[in-house]
Amino acid sequence: MVDMAENPRKTPPASTATAPVTRATDPSGRPQAGPQIRPQIRPQTEGWSQKAGPDGRPLLQFAEPKKSMPATHLADLTLEERTAAVVAAGLPGYRAAQVSRHYFVHSTTDPEQMTDLPASIRSGLTASLFPPLLTEVKRLKTDNGDTIKFLWRLFDGALVESVLMRYPGRITLCVSSEAGCGMNCPFCATGQQGLTRNLSTAEIVDQVVQANKVVASGDLGGVVREGERVSNIVFMGMGEPLANYNRVLSAVRRMIADAPEGLGMSARHITVSSVGLVPAIRRLTAEKIPVTFALSLHAPDDELRDELIPVNSRWKVDEALDAAYEFYAATGRRVSIEYALIKDMNDHGWRADLLGEKLNARGRGWVHVNPIPLNPTPGSIWTASEPDVTHEFVRRLEAAGIVTTLRDTRGKEIDGACGQLAAAD
Ligand code: SAH
Repeated sequence: MVDMAENPRKTPPASTATAPVTRATDPSGRPQAGPQIRPQIRPQTEGWSQKAGPDGRPLLQFAEPKKSMPATHLADLTLEERTAAVVAAGLPGYRAAQVSRHYFVHSTTDPEQMTDLPASIRSGLTASLFPPLLTEVKRLKTDNGDTIKFLWRLFDGALVESVLMRYPGRITLCVSSEAGCGMNCPFCATGQQGLTRNLSTAEIVDQVVQANKVVASGDLGGVVREGERVSNIVFMGMGEPLANYNRVLSAVRRMIADAPEGLGMSARHITVSSVGLVPAIRRLTAEKIPVTFALSLHAPDDELRDELIPVNSRWKVDEALDAAYEFYAATGRRVSIEYALIKDMNDHGWRADLLGEKLNARGRGWVHVNPIPLNPTPGSIWTASEPDVTHEFVRRLEAAGIVTTLRDTRGKEIDGACGQLAAAD
């Protein structure tokens, strides 16, 4: 139950004269009670400036920059397409499955290791199916080696990162879907960079294959366990996955297809996270793939979300929540709401209540909320919410019957935490 005494909407208006703030009401004019009066910091930047479009609003880059993509790689193709390519090269079609198995099961592109193939065709086949995609530039470890951040250079010099994390019972890889990002969220290090280009399907999939190779080598936490691989994928690295829709979806298909077509992972263990591109969420819903969908909401009111998540100027909070609910209704997969708690910006008790109301208005049991204290990025004047405020936020959501899990991210020391991926060489 919500504590009525603390519910700002049930208490008499506080005198604004005593308020040390610019505004003591929520956007609908609802007053905040005395003890609840907290400053409302607006999302202004300091030390860097957000790129603006011709209309003076934060720039949104949807169009894919005209950049060349890497040469076609085995992981860009379905097994059928690979087979056709192998046949076109004058070889028996079943060679495609053999090579695919080397790549997806044994994480290798090395012709020397493909001893089930005639020596005479090995190097020609691997040269045509495995153009080099990711060159490792840096490998940074923390958490006793249980977290590794990789910096990769792509064929054209663009840089992306992925983060590999060992947890009890699972290994999670946070993958990038774009080099940079066009969504311009002021609190996110990647957003501040702008979009360089979309990644190809194979550039996304290869992040997983490279990670599997590292896991098998024992470099993650210094242990080798027979058959251990990346079990969970989160599209929470650089980029907005739904702005690179077709390639991200092909990558998901490759991840969930059984060998030799793909990696044989469970769709349920793949999380696609988005700022809320509503038409693309609808497309994802229509695919009926039981991935987990995460919506990066960060504010339940349009007034603040317009500034925090610039794409909110296109699709409002309610539209994004409706689309998220439809995803749940079509797939039965519980949706995650991501909420970075930023001190005095979006962490007010009334916002937790409003969020709870908006979620409950659409149904029960369809959603859970993952608040996460902000990881301040360089140049950011904002900080994470105080622990008592964080707990009050969680308490209010739980009181509204919303399953809520406070997150802490791995890898802060190596700038590998959520929103810290900036790919500085
Ligand atoms: N573009 C996608 C995925 C990449 S970001 C999306 O926005 O969902 C993955 C998650 O990290 C998102 O929820 C994002 O809002 C969050 N995030 C970004 N910057 C952050 C920061 N500085 N601290 C905490 N979380 C952050």
